[in-house]
Amino acid sequence: MGSGKVTSSVLSEPQGKHITVAGLGVSGVPAAKVLHGLGARVTVVNDGDDERARAQAAELEQLGVTVRLGDGDTLPEGTDLIVTAPGWKPDKPLFAAAERAGVPVWGDVELAWRLRGRGGRKAAPWLAVTGTNGKTTTVQMLASILKAAGLRTAAVGNIGVSLLDAVLGEDEYDVLAVELSSYQLHWAPSLRAHSAAVLNLAPDHLDWHGSMEAYARDKGRIYEGNRVACVYNVADKATEDLVREADVEEGCRAIGFTLGTPGPSQLGVVDGILVDRAFVENRHKNAQELAEVSDVDPPAPHNIANALAAAALARAFGVPATAVRDGLRAFTPDAHRIAHVADVDGVAYVDDSKATNTHAAEASLAAYESIVWIAGGLAKGATFDELAAGAAKRLRGAVLIGRDRALIREALARHAPEVPVVDLDRTDTGAMLQAVQEAQRLARPGDTVLLAPACASMDMFANYNRRGEAFAQAVRELGA
Ligand code: ADP
Repeated sequence: MGSGKVTSSVLSEPQGKHITVAGLGVSGVPAAKVLHGLGARVTVVNDGDDERARAQAAELEQLGVTVRLGDGDTLPEGTDLIVTAPGWKPDKPLFAAAERAGVPVWGDVELAWRLRGRGGRKAAPWLAVTGTNGKTTTVQMLASILKAAGLRTAAVGNIGVSLLDAVLGEDEYDVLAVELSSYQLHWAPSLRAHSAAVLNLAPDHLDWHGSMEAYARDKGRIYEGNRVACVYNVADKATEDLVREADVEEGCRAIGFTLGTPGPSQLGVVDGILVDRAFVENRHKNAQELAEVSDVDPPAPHNIANALAAAALARAFGVPATAVRDGLRAFTPDAHRIAHVADVDGVAYVDDSKATNTHAAEASLAAYESIVWIAGGLAKGATFDELAAGAAKRLRGAVLIGRDRALIREALARHAPEVPVVDLDRTDTGAMLQAVQEAQRLARPGDTVLLAPACASMDMFANYNRRGEAFAQAVRELGA
């Protein structure tokens, strides 16, 4: 693929170079503006030709950028470099044309990486995080810890500040906490993080990557060229394999995180305390206490794992143990991630609308003892057998909503036949109120009603936020 070829001359002398930006939108518009500002001749190509695209195009054309709407597959004449939106699939004809013409392809992350340190700015090192689930949470925890250590930092990537703004904006940073998706990594051939973590690896986005191997390979790119630490999940061997395959700087260490007692070069948990046996003197004998499990919000097992990964990256950067504790205490999770909505009649109602795939739902189901589970939506090709089998013992009942709910119903029938299931034959937005009422009927005091849909939301809601809000609203109506 063209992404593997790297030329540095285009950006060292951008004047007069012809750069094609593939895709308008969150990354394309700022990239086009920045490249135009550097003196490059910029053409934007975009598949869509809707009202929004036309408005964006008009704005760019005023600056002198050429925009071609409705044709994202023809390589513009004389292109020296393509900068693509991360979501564009590698098998698009545009990239085959680029390959034939020997034109390199970069994503938004590669562009930001190449532009950092320009104009006399400090090139802040990157602490990078990827994984199937937990990225946003971990990066936010990491930024909170780095701030507690007095460092100038920001959580960037898919969240908060955009990467281009972080490397080119007014604010100077000592270090960046960077969330990277598998798509972004695919298009970032020369990225070299100070240290990086892969949190976990479960099948997701396979239609884009083509196979699990290709998905894993793209995630594994995050370790390439790491200088200090490659952080992996001891419980997820695939992440450790990626470390082993990576080509890193001399002296870079493999650091594991585990929910169990840590071995040397690991961070883990002992008697409710997060401990570090990696970044301490004499790690064969010593361990450093970092924080208590109760300092992590919520203290669910997968979230403790996120906190350990964040702590490992921060410690790799030289942050003291006290800052890990202070940073974790100061952290509050984003909405719809295991958010406790209310207790009604001794039953806890928890919104994990962000559990949009089975791996995420599995983590939240593992965090509670006795659950009435609200699930369903768009399955995105997933199967639910493993999830149903794993959760069976913890389920008081299940309430199913959304288009692909039959897949979950059938999996429950196979693996948890004794669990009562309410199948709501509805995909309208108002179904959430009925789902919550049905869940209340099934629940007993001490139970948790958990919205962890294991599916995307778009069949019933604009996005997972709206789904979570509908749940919370329905819970408030119960209590009223
Ligand atoms: P991402 O940015 O990777 O989508 P988030 O931090 O936004 O991750 O969390 C998304 C959802 O994934 C959470 O609501 C939770 O259900 C689940 N989750 C979070 N951390 C983990 C983890 N370490 N392992 C498995 N699932 C997780």
